Amino acid sequence: QPVLAVVGRPNVGKSTLVNRIIGRREAVVQDVPGVTRDRVAYDALWNGRRFTVVDTGGWEPGVTGLQGSVAAQAEYAMSTSDAVLLVVDAAVGATAAEEAVAKVLRRSKKPVLLAANKVDDDRLLAETASLWTLGLGEPRPVSALHGRSSGDLLDAIVDALPEAPKDRDPSGGGPRRVALVGKPNVGKSSLLNKLTGEQRSVVDAVAGTTVDPVDSLVELDGQPWRFVDTAGLRKRVQTASGAEYYASLRTRTAIDAAEVVVVLLDASEPISEQDLRVLTMVVDAGRALVLAFNKWDLVDEDRRHQLDRELDRGLVRVPWAEKVNISALTGRSVRKLAPVLRTALASWDQRVPTGQLNGWLADLIAATPPPVRGGKQPKVLFATQAGIRPPTLVLFTTGFLEAGYRRFIERKFRERFGFEGSPVRINVRVRE
Ligand code: GDP
Repeated sequence: QPVLAVVGRPNVGKSTLVNRIIGRREAVVQDVPGVTRDRVAYDALWNGRRFTVVDTGGWEPGVTGLQGSVAAQAEYAMSTSDAVLLVVDAAVGATAAEEAVAKVLRRSKKPVLLAANKVDDDRLLAETASLWTLGLGEPRPVSALHGRSSGDLLDAIVDALPEAPKDRDPSGGGPRRVALVGKPNVGKSSLLNKLTGEQRSVVDAVAGTTVDPVDSLVELDGQPWRFVDTAGLRKRVQTASGAEYYASLRTRTAIDAAEVVVVLLDASEPISEQDLRVLTMVVDAGRALVLAFNKWDLVDEDRRHQLDRELDRGLVRVPWAEKVNISALTGRSVRKLAPVLRTALASWDQRVPTGQLNGWLADLIAATPPPVRGGKQPKVLFATQAGIRPPTLVLFTTGFLEAGYRRFIERKFRERFGFEGSPVRINVRVRE
């Protein structure tokens, strides 16, 4: 999701304009806790375009004097955003502070927009025109308080921002797409046959060609699901040479085609390297994940304890996976598959609003700050969930965050917001 940074002196109406841009969907600016007190991020939506608005806080003269702090703010805004909006009070015009920030912003390779605020009626339009002298292009008159021309400004903002990668439409593709993967003989074909058993009519009538359908459409729990790339499974194609190569290629193709992946594990045998390789493929591809422990009919008390120990060691990378114990042979608990698939997909589609995310993160970081590196305490300025499928967070920081601390953030994030069954990506953007 692209980021717009808003800069401006105190009292130019910056906060009011930010509220106008976000449509007051998230509380009044001053009341929302930010990660640092003077920088707060919000979600905005205009004409179907989503973006994050960052209010870069006050311009109080610091140790370096007014000019220095203004320049620092502008530089900060440029380094953490995709476009910058400078807000000027049209009644006051350009002061030395605006001259200073304009000088910095003119060097920006990113788009800069100039808003002349408090133009409540036509009387201030002449003053607005005088802001051309800042060398930032067309000054756009706006009244944050009354909303005058704010639609025009928003049009200009979304035009200036890069297009966000579109979230793939959940309904657009019809039934949700599921892949069944796992090592040979784990029971993939048996499970597919069990699932399709009572409904041969639908099964062969989907996708590909009627002669050689690639996918199987299966109704589970009152909902149709598309099991992808099942042709090989159904026909039991086994090439004598290179069978393993084709099996792994098929696994990758199925994962890529799916939204949620069911990894079958043979519960009666130790978890193998091959199982872990498949899990890694799913995580790397960013798909929702369900672990199905098959052949549960063969599992006795001893084996169950043993399995618990294997899971502790083997599944450290995916403690968040949805789990279900089944028997494709007897049909035991196969009905439980649909609910866990739904849970995993709901997590995969989940989005935490920016205000909520930053409120939570501020508390977390206040309680447990990032470890000091090279004598410096890295600060987390703000965060935004940049995407879904898989959920992806972007943290804007003043320094590198160690892997251990990123894992800590992920663990706490999951404790607070759930996301069972889905990978969560955390990207860190360090401000230069
Ligand atoms: P695939 O290679 O993953 O498609 O595995 P198959 O479905 O061909 O199954 C391999 C073997 O495991 C067959 O002999 C199945 O009957 C057996 N099998 C599959 N699921 C189960 C199960 O839940 N319990 C038991 N006991 N055997 C199973």
